[in-house]
Amino acid sequence: MDRGDLRQVQNERLRETVERVYFNVPYYRHKMQEAGLGPESINSVEDLTKLPFTTKVDLRDNYPFGLFAVPMSEIVRLHASSGTTGKPTVVGYTRNDIATWSEVMARTLTSAGANRNDFIQIAYGYGLFTGGLGLHYGGEKIGASVIPISGGNTVRQIQLMCDLGTTVLACTPSYALFLAEAIQDNGIDLNTIKLKAGVFGAEPWTENMRREIESKLRIKAIDIYGLSEVIGPGVASECIKQEGLHINEDHFYPEIIDPDSRAVLPEGTLGELVFTTITKEGLPLIRYRTRDLTRLNYGKCKCGRTLVRMDKCLGRSDDMLIVRGVNLFPSQIETVLLEMSEIKPHYRIIVDRVNNLDTLELQVEVDEEFFLDKISQLQSLTGKLENNLESATGLTIKVTLVEPKTIERSEGKAQRVIDKRKF
Ligand SMILES: [Zn+2]
Repeated sequence: MDRGDLRQVQNERLRETVERVYFNVPYYRHKMQEAGLGPESINSVEDLTKLPFTTKVDLRDNYPFGLFAVPMSEIVRLHASSGTTGKPTVVGYTRNDIATWSEVMARTLTSAGANRNDFIQIAYGYGLFTGGLGLHYGGEKIGASVIPISGGNTVRQIQLMCDLGTTVLACTPSYALFLAEAIQDNGIDLNTIKLKAGVFGAEPWTENMRREIESKLRIKAIDIYGLSEVIGPGVASECIKQEGLHINEDHFYPEIIDPDSRAVLPEGTLGELVFTTITKEGLPLIRYRTRDLTRLNYGKCKCGRTLVRMDKCLGRSDDMLIVRGVNLFPSQIETVLLEMSEIKPHYRIIVDRVNNLDTLELQVEVDEEFFLDKISQLQSLTGKLENNLESATGLTIKVTLVEPKTIERSEGKAQRVIDKRKF
């Protein structure tokens, strides 16, 4: 679509969205009234700067359904991702939202070169996480043969890949590398594998990782981007030119802001990515701060698509970690620690990548009185803490108890996270 025509579509959809949130979401109506705005104040995307931002904290404060814009009888699906503390972030979809999601995922797979003749092996997790089902809808929409194997079980992944003739693999980039090495280690002839492309996302990865995956699996490795608050995967994806990710901006209008001053930055400047959803019904979000750092490029792509492109995201403007494709906030861990009296809230999270799989270790100080007790008690404390952490974060975290006062104290902001992975 010509960019001028696209702008008309965006303006029209934005007006409808603003009207929808004003009349259906008290949170947005109050915010707009406070700023002296009504639905008629917003006529085009140029007026967006008048509107307030939405953050993950706003979603938490309105947990679970406070920002939904339709009655629950119209919601056909709920998904959830990590919140900053104990409560997850809950998102809801109407039937039309699921159709939109299928559409943008169909675009994602098509731009990776997939079509109805492909076999798509979806090794993203199915469940509350949006990765599995998002790819699933896109695959069915383009008429491909979808293999919903979900995450894990590497032996079976490889067996089905060979036997069913998988041509497109969908998973996190680190799992793709892990699979590639397992194929190598098992002495499987690459000629028996028909893979031609992979769509990889849900965690940051470098050009080096891309080259490694491409050469080890002899495929084209395509970067995809999304977050459940906006829709899930399908927000943006690379085309086969691999020169930036095309944003589906007829559904998700992007801005780049300075994370500190919150001013909108000019094209090409690195800053925080912000989205306004302009077609969503269940959970429309106005100027949602993703915390992902990137830049935008409005130049025409060699593939012919006119959709704006964003750079690969490599950084965050907050302290969220992405481990094995799962979002993790240090504050989630802190919440668990504060609930256990045997432990002091002095801790350190060590993230590493061993054989292409992320590992997590939590070093935490034990209370002085408790530390004098028996080894067996320390062992049961470790087990209890590991269980509590797993149920709070969905991740397996190895706990190492350390003596009181051994974790370095710092004057300013404590360095809680040591990330040894190389992005
Ligand atoms: Zn392109």
